[in-house]
Amino acid sequence: MAGVYVHFPFCATRCIYCDFYARVGKDWKPYIEALLTELSERKDFLKGVPPTTLYFGGGTPSLLPAGELARVADAVRTTFGVSDFEEFTLEVNPDDVTAERAAAWRSMGAGRVSVGVQSFCDTHLRWMHRRHTAAEAVTAVETLRRAGFDNLSLDLIFGFTELSDDDWAASIAAALALRPEHISCYQMMGRLADSDEDRCRRQYALLQERLSAAGYRQYEVSNYALPGYESRHNSAYWAREPYLGLGAGAHSFDGDRLRCWNTPDIDAYAASRPGGEERLSDREVLEEKLMLSLRTVRGLDLSSLTDPELGSVKKATLEELSRAGKLIVEGSRIRIPEGELFVSDWIISRLFPEHTA
Ligand code: SF4
Repeated sequence: MAGVYVHFPFCATRCIYCDFYARVGKDWKPYIEALLTELSERKDFLKGVPPTTLYFGGGTPSLLPAGELARVADAVRTTFGVSDFEEFTLEVNPDDVTAERAAAWRSMGAGRVSVGVQSFCDTHLRWMHRRHTAAEAVTAVETLRRAGFDNLSLDLIFGFTELSDDDWAASIAAALALRPEHISCYQMMGRLADSDEDRCRRQYALLQERLSAAGYRQYEVSNYALPGYESRHNSAYWAREPYLGLGAGAHSFDGDRLRCWNTPDIDAYAASRPGGEERLSDREVLEEKLMLSLRTVRGLDLSSLTDPELGSVKKATLEELSRAGKLIVEGSRIRIPEGELFVSDWIISRLFPEHTA
């Protein structure tokens, strides 16, 4: 399978924790034209494989007029000769959701909406510089439901200094009360992150426990879904399927060794689309396979590795991690137990070829 990602790097204001490339403004007209040009110039990147998923991310795609978004979606369909997608996701911010826009998003073919809620505590939302309240997030979800969206994902953030365990439990409960089909929870990183590792680990475990009890299945370090609602687009990233990324700062992957990107600069993108590319070495390919697959609860099938790759996986470390309960070995498949996913990066890095104990 293959996917198309389109980046819309515009925001109404900046949130204090965000590192995504985006800028405040509404000067999107030349940008949309540049997107359509890039689409037509790079249509062969997927080597004839028609995309089955489309993802509009940002930034804040919901800030743009629905007609502009529909133009881009239609152009992707026409360019690849597909009538529709198995999954078409649109990222929205709660303050952009109105009945009219929701209806227009449905009409352009979006079937899945990812809502940037982040928290159900107004104090924390203000601290993050979010533009909505908890009540507005609830209203946004209700509006999307009334428009017919039956595949909603909510984003939440944990692991910041202001967040107590009780606050976190309340936000989880508020999210569950809305019964979204999918929930993504990210740990805050960088200068605003909570340095209390024990509290972060507790909050991660609380999330796993509450979501599991409510019928959600964790399928990746940060992602939970009701059965059948796992994100196909993101799952394809972790399976190293090819995708074409369009827009300033967007990355593309050919499904083998080529990773390329557009420079994150709207003006430069519109003018000449600068960017870069790299061809992964054997070692980098193996590290990617380990890093991406072991973040999922399915883990990695060792029999899918080439002989040289398999030879580079440290058997002694594998056995050591298995004995320590950090890895589960089931036939040829290895995976990280759910109780250890919080430290998955550390576990995976131990398996990297160059790691020395
Ligand atoms: S709206 Fe989203 S992309 Fe924009 S600054 Fe906030 S978190 Fe970042």
